Amino acid sequence: MQFAKPLPSYLVQRYQGWKATAYAENRSWYRRLATEGQRPRAMVISCCDSRVHVTSIFGADQGEFFIHRNIANLVPPYEPDGDHHGTSATIEYAVTVLKVSHLMVLGHSQCGGVQGCIDMCKGHAPELEEKESFVGRWMDILRPKFDLVADISDEGEQARAFERQSVLASLANLMTFPFVSEAVDNGALSLHGLWTDIGEGGLEYYDPKSGNFVKV
Ligand SMILES: [Zn+2]
Repeated sequence: MQFAKPLPSYLVQRYQGWKATAYAENRSWYRRLATEGQRPRAMVISCCDSRVHVTSIFGADQGEFFIHRNIANLVPPYEPDGDHHGTSATIEYAVTVLKVSHLMVLGHSQCGGVQGCIDMCKGHAPELEEKESFVGRWMDILRPKFDLVADISDEGEQARAFERQSVLASLANLMTFPFVSEAVDNGALSLHGLWTDIGEGGLEYYDPKSGNFVKV
């Protein structure tokens, strides 16, 4: 493993700063988390995008959120085929072992993954069509939903609408997991669809009554 390098110095400095301040001031809390284990009440599935700061926008501390991030906050359908399924594994663990009460899917504005899917659907991204493109094949999860936004002429508006569709597609796919639908049906788990506007700091939730996303 000669290719692995030591941590860059700017990160070493930041870590040491954290250890001397945030950690030092809450040492007993960290020790308690270590000995008692995690009991998060909520799972969050968000995009990997570095601008989406899941714990900051909810003021969440260590131990509160079980977080999974992937490109475009997508949940694949339930496929128990013995293959590698990272997202499905996190959902299984959160719901069946940690027994979280809430599962939030958090989409966001200016999502590069969703934009890539739009480009692919419009025939502008041949590189994503390649069988070898992990991003392209991952975005295939969302691709069938493009029909729902295909008629929106304004490109920004279309992208925002498709970002919200990525949240809804994930919620629908979550219910194809038997342990998720069972927990939802017996009231142990509630699912939530969210979308955040990066530039405005906005947050919207999916309202099942109106079928729209509503500002928080
Ligand atoms: Zn994104």
